Amino acid sequence: MPTSMKMTDELWQAIIHNDSAYDGRFYYGVRTTGIFCRPSCKSKNPNIEHVNLFENAEQAVADSFRPCKRCKPDNMRLPDEEWVQQLIQLIEERYEEPLTLQVLADTIHASPYHLHRMFKRIQGETPLEYIQKIRLREARRILSEPSHLTVSEIAKRVGFPNSAYFATLFHKKTGMTPSDYRNNTPKAAETGTEAANNKEV
Ligand SMILES: [Zn+2]
Repeated sequence: MPTSMKMTDELWQAIIHNDSAYDGRFYYGVRTTGIFCRPSCKSKNPNIEHVNLFENAEQAVADSFRPCKRCKPDNMRLPDEEWVQQLIQLIEERYEEPLTLQVLADTIHASPYHLHRMFKRIQGETPLEYIQKIRLREARRILSEPSHLTVSEIAKRVGFPNSAYFATLFHKKTGMTPSDYRNNTPKAAETGTEAANNKEV
């Protein structure tokens, strides 16, 4: 790793107080998001355990960090397409969590408003529409496999805490209720008697 700077109390104070006097003197990357910032960045305070320090922006880039969209270190900018790809990857990995526009925006250090517009322009649908699409895709996958899960358990598992809402949305998008979908889908891997007992809801 090309990081040569050690965290000191002075640098940490500069980060948490967004101290612009330190801009240009160092940069910090947050390993959980893969994004690096100037000290003055107004983004959420990182967990100190996840911070890497860099003397310059090139070091951060060499260490695979991406420039923050909000504070644009060294005026580096990533094409919006790359941000959207990053968001899509995040959604694919974390669709079962309560992902809100704010959570996504915090992750790439953008405002929710900007994120919404950028995603819609490039992807043709809003981030929330995209999340619902992925959740429904996963629900269909689980419903088409033999399992003992109830529909509300499946709803929760794919990120819909409210199973009535899940059932409504599912019906709207597929024309079937989740139970009908389950009963009408040929099971790819019907194994033994276990699969036969999934009549509930
Ligand atoms: Zn930043």
